[in-house]
Amino acid sequence: MGAKSYDMIVIGAGPGGYVAAIRGAQLGLKVAIVEREHMGGICLNWGCIPTKAMLRSAEVFHLMHRAKEFGLSADGIGYDLDAVVKRSRGVAKQLNSGVGHLMKKNKVDVVMGEASLPAKGKVSVKTDTGTEELTAKNIVLAVGARARELPGLEADGDLVWTYKHALMPPRMPKKLLVIGSGAIGIEFASFYNTLGADTTVVEVLDRILPVEDAEISAFAKKAFVKQGMTIMEKSMVKQLDRGKGKVTAHIETGGKVEKHEFDTVISAVGIVANTDQLQLEKLGAKLDRSFVVTDEYCRSGADGLFVIGDATNGPWLAHKASHEGVMVAEIIAGKNKVHPVKPESIAGCTYCHPQIASVGFTEAKAKEKGYKVRVGRFPFIGNGKAIALGEPEGMVKTIFDDKTGELLGAHMVGAEVTELIQGYVVGRQLETTEEDLMETVFPHPTLSEMMHESVLDAYDRVIHI
Ligand SMILES: Cc1cc2nc3c(=O)[nH]c(=O)nc-3n(C[C@H](O)[C@H](O)[C@H](O)COP(=O)(O)OP(=O)(O)OC[C@H]3O[C@@H](n4cnc5c(N)ncnc54)[C@H](O)[C@@H]3O)c2cc1C
Repeated sequence: MGAKSYDMIVIGAGPGGYVAAIRGAQLGLKVAIVEREHMGGICLNWGCIPTKAMLRSAEVFHLMHRAKEFGLSADGIGYDLDAVVKRSRGVAKQLNSGVGHLMKKNKVDVVMGEASLPAKGKVSVKTDTGTEELTAKNIVLAVGARARELPGLEADGDLVWTYKHALMPPRMPKKLLVIGSGAIGIEFASFYNTLGADTTVVEVLDRILPVEDAEISAFAKKAFVKQGMTIMEKSMVKQLDRGKGKVTAHIETGGKVEKHEFDTVISAVGIVANTDQLQLEKLGAKLDRSFVVTDEYCRSGADGLFVIGDATNGPWLAHKASHEGVMVAEIIAGKNKVHPVKPESIAGCTYCHPQIASVGFTEAKAKEKGYKVRVGRFPFIGNGKAIALGEPEGMVKTIFDDKTGELLGAHMVGAEVTELIQGYVVGRQLETTEEDLMETVFPHPTLSEMMHESVLDAYDRVIHI
């Protein structure tokens, strides 16, 4: 049988790939999508969604312990870890089958199997029953990434886990070491710590959540320590000695190595793109470590090969992958006025307790870029809704260009900030200035009023503190 021909072939059905496929089909392209494992990619199956389901269980558990504060009673509060995991897997499964349904609805051909790229415009798929050959003028590579493993700290699924093991844990850790304090490490630290694990987080840089604004990192650290976590910054796990049911970690801080014992380690030290088997250089693409170097329109340099999502430049987030998917499908369909994705306008959210969310430049970054900044801050304790919710811990920080009033960055820590941040994202997209934000009427009582107050504070007009 000859090769099947398409206008666009997408490789990888994560949030980058499946969204690109849908947008391409909407624009009249004949589209195929190749997936080797699961519709929905890491995001739906092992990332964004199942972690949020688990964190929700932890949040409810935490709130149940606070029942008395709200005039309620709850006795014998406990949890069944297997049931928590079962719920999380169920949520992932529901969404995963939803993606299959969307492919059908949009008449996208789904080919299940491992794709390779033998030559320009050609895709070869190893399926359960043989090999399928496909051709297209345009190929969208959306193969995502996997957990990075450091030599000596490799996961074994028993004592040392990656995020996949942490989402289907063989047991509840008693003494947990989390290596790495990015969003993934901190979310698992928060989940297991809330359920009662004695949790230590080790971060090699000088503060946890290193991509966040320094004030937000410091605030979060204080909250985590108050919840019983141990935070070790400027520290490096040099070695893990695996014994029977225990791991001895050699942790270096300030040139001194100390040994600490744990029963479980979660390694969350970054990701590696799934590009190793694809020989992309042969097609003319350039790689930076495992990531394909692309321009602002996700063009790889290899003719007709676009690369989106976790397989290319960061930030490595699902919504960035999806937005790039829409963008490349529109380019391929020949749409005019396609706008590139601006990394500095992509919000980052961490769903720990308290939550963290940000968009744009940190204060340090804005200053480094030469801006004279105006900074506003507003604490949760000054907001009626936060107090009514029993969530008085948190802050909203906004950063403006003193000269033009442009909103350069917004940074938040506290309850529901992952839902609030989108207000500032829209503001940045519309090139909002301080005046627009100050003139906007925010509904009362809402947490969003703090977004207003933080802006007012930057211009010495704050009302409620
Ligand atoms: C624990 C965890 C929590 C996360 N939480 C969040 C969050 O809250 N918010 C957020 O925005 N991001 C989060 N992320 C990141 C998010 O999951 C990724 O940014 C997102 O999944 C990237 O989408 P993608 O389409 O590029 O790749 P992926 O989702 O990784 O999908 C790639 C797909 O390609 C397939 N594939 C790979 N190679 C081939 C091949 N050769 N042939 C066929 N198929 C192939 C894979 O099987 C996979 O299904 C989290 C990640 C993790 C690990």
